[in-house]
Amino acid sequence: SAGEAADELGYGAYVVGGFVRDLFLVRSNEDIDIVIEGNGIEFAKKYAKIHNARVHTYEKFGTAVVIFPKGFKIDVVTARLEYYRFPADLPIVEMSSIKLDLYRRDFTINTLAIQLNPNRFGTLIDFFSAQKDIKEKAIRILHNLSFVEDPTRVFRAIRFEQRFGFTIGRLTSGLIKNSVKMGFFQKLSGRRAFNELRQILEEENPTPAVERMHDYDLLKIIHPDIKPTRKLIADFTAVKKVLAWHDLLFLDEEYLRWTVYFMMLIRQFNKQKSNEICQKFEMAPKYQVIFCKERFIADQCLYWLSFNKSLKNSELYRELSGFKVELLLYMMAAARRESIKKIISHYFTRLRQITTSIKGKDLMAMGIKPGPVYREIMDAVLDAKLNGQIKTCE
Ligand code: ATP
Repeated sequence: SAGEAADELGYGAYVVGGFVRDLFLVRSNEDIDIVIEGNGIEFAKKYAKIHNARVHTYEKFGTAVVIFPKGFKIDVVTARLEYYRFPADLPIVEMSSIKLDLYRRDFTINTLAIQLNPNRFGTLIDFFSAQKDIKEKAIRILHNLSFVEDPTRVFRAIRFEQRFGFTIGRLTSGLIKNSVKMGFFQKLSGRRAFNELRQILEEENPTPAVERMHDYDLLKIIHPDIKPTRKLIADFTAVKKVLAWHDLLFLDEEYLRWTVYFMMLIRQFNKQKSNEICQKFEMAPKYQVIFCKERFIADQCLYWLSFNKSLKNSELYRELSGFKVELLLYMMAAARRESIKKIISHYFTRLRQITTSIKGKDLMAMGIKPGPVYREIMDAVLDAKLNGQIKTCE
């Protein structure tokens, strides 16, 4: 029905990018991007109306998001010729607006489009030999100035290469080396560089991508001392294992996977250096707290645990209850000894959820005068519950 709505407005409509690529790779992808040859915002409004959906528009960019009642979303962009400044050495050839839109993309594998207009519905459009590169499992840029135009594409190349088990093409690889040598990354704002790094660390298995970053001498953008040593690889492998364990047991619990990997990346650095890294990347304060403060408390706690192994549940609870999920997972991955991993996982799976249901008004009803004694009573009840001295029928 998107094609019909577009037809009524006299616009061409196409599904493009990652969604089409993933159809060819037989991978699921729920992000649908539609390109409109015409006014994308007008189309989005019309389409949303037909489906009782909401629409957010970004007039300045000619883009919109259509949000369906069940939360499903479609991104709509306008293909516009006039907003593209061609790289200097390229002849300005005749291009349809969909072709130009695809030409501006990062890699050939992301340039497939499927037409949606009813009379050509389902027609596959492949201007830049995307199908061939998918077959050859190659990541290739579309023109030689691609990385000059946007250096973040270097990180994207590595991310896609590792995610799909592809290889960065020869010419593309040469251009990456060149852009690293020429220092294009210095032009990139800390925030944008960090955003890419974060996406790499969000991948299912970021380890090989970090090794690839090293191949291209890119880890230095975090800090010149970061190398994929055997120790770092072992730490990353440990994180992967712990996260898999967590995700299996606590399917619905949301947490920031990348932060656990990032803590491992900067594990060798003291507070001051960690701070410098956070500043350089213009990190939000909530992340700075994790990397420059809580991480060090977690390391201290690990050290403490290695001397205090026969703890009562209540003592363990007091030690660990202040840590966020990410920090607990970091500690489990960083703990060298199996016995310490076990202690933390015992807290994680058994103790963490325990609370008391006693409220102030219960104590009042018992005739106890309000005051600091309330806290003491509640703590004592929680301790007794943690240590298995009282059972409740909650
Ligand atoms: P993912 O599964 O990681 O979301 P994706 O291919 O859907 O992969 P997005 O980052 O959502 O990637 O981008 C959507 C599309 O926009 C891509 O297919 C790509 O063609 C284009 N794109 C994104 N970033 C860039 C960029 N820096 N330069 C050029 N094109 C880009």
